[in-house]
This record gives sequence, C-alpha cells and structure tokens, in this order.
Amino acid sequence: MLFKEFAEFCEGIEKISSTLELTARISEFIKKIEDDEDLYNVVLFIMGKIYPPWEEKELGVGIGLLYEVLENISGLKKEKIEDMVRELGDLGLVSEKLISGRSMLTLEVEELSIRRVREIFDEISSLTGEGSRKRKILLLTGLYGVASPLEAKYLTRLIMNEMRLGVGEGIVRDAIARAFGVGEDLVERAYMVTNDLGKVAVIAKKSGKEGLEKIKIELHTPVRMMLAQVAESFEEAIADMGKVAVEWKFDGSRVQVHYGNGELRIYSRRLENVTKALPEIADEIRKTVKEGVILDGEVIAVKDGKPMPFQHVLRRFRRKHGVSKMAEKIPLQFYAFDILFMNGGVIDKPLVERRKMLQSVISESERIRIAKQVITSDREEMERIFNEAINAGHEGVMLKNPNSPYVPGKRGKHWLKLKSVMETLDLVVVGGEWGEGKRSHLISSYELACLDDLTGNLLKIGKVATGFTDEDLEELTEMFRQIIILHEGKRVEFQPKYIFEVAYQEIQKSPKYESGYALRFPRFIRLRDDKDVSEADRLSRVEDLYQKQFKKT
Ligand code: AMP
Repeated sequence: MLFKEFAEFCEGIEKISSTLELTARISEFIKKIEDDEDLYNVVLFIMGKIYPPWEEKELGVGIGLLYEVLENISGLKKEKIEDMVRELGDLGLVSEKLISGRSMLTLEVEELSIRRVREIFDEISSLTGEGSRKRKILLLTGLYGVASPLEAKYLTRLIMNEMRLGVGEGIVRDAIARAFGVGEDLVERAYMVTNDLGKVAVIAKKSGKEGLEKIKIELHTPVRMMLAQVAESFEEAIADMGKVAVEWKFDGSRVQVHYGNGELRIYSRRLENVTKALPEIADEIRKTVKEGVILDGEVIAVKDGKPMPFQHVLRRFRRKHGVSKMAEKIPLQFYAFDILFMNGGVIDKPLVERRKMLQSVISESERIRIAKQVITSDREEMERIFNEAINAGHEGVMLKNPNSPYVPGKRGKHWLKLKSVMETLDLVVVGGEWGEGKRSHLISSYELACLDDLTGNLLKIGKVATGFTDEDLEELTEMFRQIIILHEGKRVEFQPKYIFEVAYQEIQKSPKYESGYALRFPRFIRLRDDKDVSEADRLSRVEDLYQKQFKKT
C-alpha cells in the first residue's frame, strides 16, 4: 500500500467530528487492506503510534532533530519555520507547505510505500551512540525528499505522535470490530491482553472471533493493569460487595512482574520495561518467587521504616546510569497484591483464589512482600485498617470484591479506592511560560489540558504556577525544554508528553478554556510520568467532580 493512500485517507477524515462516521470510514478503509503488514502499520499509524506502547522501541526523534530536517529540506532558518508554525498552528501543516515550495526537480522520485516508511522508522529507532543523530537526520531528510506535500504533513504528525484526527483507541477498536465482523468486547479484551491493536486487527482479519478468543495472557508480554474507581464511603463498598477485601493503598508505583523461563522482567504502569532500574528488586524476586508467574503489585520507597514520597520511586524508575548508588539513597520494597499467571492465565479465577496462589508462589522477605488483606463487612474494622494505612504514611485503602476476576485495563467497580485527601486531577501539560526576575531561566507556569472522552483530543482547562519547589522547576524546565514546539514571546508550546497531578480548590464553569471548565487555585502535586498521555483524566471526570461539589455543599 502506498503511503499516499494512507495520507489521503487521513486528509479525508480530518474534518469529520462524528465518532460514528469516523468509525465507519476507518472500518471501510482497513477492511480493504489485503496485506497483513500494511494493516498492522495503518492501525498503529492512524493513532499516531509507531510502536505499541510496551515494545522497547521508540523512534527517538525529538523536536530539535525534526526542525533540523525541515531546515535542510527548505533551506529556511528555524526562526522562520517557527514563524510558520505560529501562523499555521502545527508542524504538520508547515511541513506540507515547505515541501510544496520545494524545487520541482526532486519531486516524486519514488512512490513511498507504507512498508518503506516503516523500514526507515525501524532503522532510525535502532540507531544509537556516536553519529546516530547525523544518520537520523540523513534518513529523515531522504524520506521527506521523496514525500509529496500531503505525505510530509502526515509524516511529521506521525513522528510527533499527534495525528490530529480525533481518532483515539476507542474508535479504532470499534472500527476493527466492524471491519471484521467481531464483537467490540472481544476486540477490547484482546487489546488489553496484547496491548497491540495492530496485532489484534491482523488476528481479527485472519481468524475472526475464534482467533481473538484464543488470545491468551503470555509470559513476557505485559497486560494492561486493572484499575480502581473512587469510593465515596465504606458503606458504598459494603452495599456493592457484601464482604470486602480490604488492603492498604500503598503510595508507590505500580509494576507487573513477569518471571519465567529463567527470565525476569518488570514493567511499569505504562508497560515500559524498568527491570534494569530496579536491580535489587529483580535479584530478590529471583530468590523469593517461584518461576512461571505474572505478579501485580506496588513498588514503594522506604527509609527508616517510613515510606518516602512517591516522586522518589519514579526517580528510581527513570534512572539509567548510576543505578546502584541511587538504590542506596532510595531503597525499594515490592508489595505483591495480585497474580495473573501461574503456569497459564488465572485472571478469570476469583480474587480469593488468586490470593491463595499468590501466597503459594512467594516466600516473603524484607524487600518482597504480599500486601496484607482482611476480608470483612464490618465498617469499623475497615476504618481501623484505613487509619493504620494513613498512620503508616500511605494513601488510604483499596476495597476489592473477593469474588471478582482480574479485568485487564478496566477501571471498574470490582476495585474501589478510598483516599484521605481531596481528589486530584491528572492533566496533560501542553504549554508554559518562562518566569520573571530570578526565575527567568525557568519555565514557571504550565498550561494544562484534559482529554476528550472519545477522540482523545486535548481540551485546555487552566494553568498551574504554584506548588513547585525551585528544585522541581529546575528539573521540569530541563525536561520540558526538550519538547518545545514553539516559542511565542515568553510563552512556549509543548509536544503533549507529560502529565501533572494537580490539586485545586474548586472546579468552575468557564468559557475561557476549550474544556468549558477552569480550576480555581490549582496547585502542582507531582509529575506523573508513570502515566501515558492517553491515561490523563477525561472531560467526563472533570464534569463528575464539578457535579460532586454541589452534592457536598
Ligand atoms: P490511582 O492511581 O489513584 O487511580 O489508584 C490506583 C493505584 O493504586 C493502582 O494503580 C496502584 O498503583 C495503587 N495501589 C496501591 N496499593 C494497591 C493495592 N493494594 N491494590 C491495588 N492497587 C494499589
């Protein structure tokens, strides 16, 4: 399939806002794709993804590099290209314009296929070390060299992981179901287990319902983690579940451990392989856990018997060099609370049974533990455990249905969370502003957005400029500097990549922002780089929280 066909299709659906129509159009388009590899690539590309999230590959092309490529092709200086971004609004449209202004001599030398684009991306992603930057620039310059203006527009958006089509995972899931005549639920389940909608599409096409049903949890392929809903009260949980399995809600970071066939891998909540960053946990798991299992749990940092703030755990996850030194400074423990695989998938078994399996495969040690659990319907007992968790420096409790299966990727009613503090929002950072006076070298205010529920589009909701320490700002400025798309005086715009957890005094209706809401007195709590942008809070949650404020008063 030609990349041109893909680009033309994208252009054709760009103006469509009805999700039903988008689903129908995508379904028609993918139904006609004969080649499996093309189908795989199209399904990922249309969501602006080059690799499925858990694959240990990434393109490794930052904004700076992309600007250099565009400078090469157009002969224009970066400042001029930035002017064009200001005028046109996105780098994709700018790329289109730059290519259309290019000399005719170089046009249409080669018809670019989707496969060719994939090959070049794969080569770029495999480059490391000295000279890799130069080679990446060369490869991309070559790619744009044979691209038409429209192809360039979507190449750029793909490289930036932002297609601006309003096509989120939900739409692609439904389109696959429709194209290959299978149930949406089945596609969803297959996706939660494989984490790869491209792969799911190919299986649905080749072997339909039966093929999808056969997809099983496998060791060393991460599974989406089961999530929790907010509980209003203990009574709610008791009414819903009768007997409730109560556990501490540890203030750390979620991990999934795959251990079998001599191999051990630890995945973060974003399903990134973080094994190398957690050597002491990995070593200790080898000593205390039986092979052939997938465990779910939380890693926490503990010093002098007290948990350290969650931010420290994430610092460990990010660390690539000097890991052992960091391990001394920030010692970790792993609390296992679930098991998904024991010589085969066990997610359909009830929690009580999984719990027994968990106990049978782990012999606890100082560092590797099983989260304590009490099954009760006594409200006072629950409150006692809640207070115990808070006194021990944790967030609150998890209230789980003892009879529930493990439902990957689901934020359902089987797991409820009850925290002591007010609910915060996890929002995508889309822009910022350089500070003044002694903070003029720091980006000191950040623009935030939530997600549109279906399309995944970013909807602005406000700015946050308080709650940061100087150290936070230094660290954040360094990170955000790498992803600046645009400068506008003191204001900068970022590639959407990071999430902030933000507290606020109140949510208000406001015409000022696209979301229709604004935050009163927002305050930075922490960087949530354990969450992917697609996991930021959605508009529906903002609306819920807004409504709840009235109930309280
Ligand atoms: P939240 O991140 O606020 O949505 O809360 C859910 C998170 O709590 C999970 O993703 C886990 O990382 C964390 N957590 C801490 N303790 C537990 C526990 N005992 N069971 C399940 N999740 C837990």
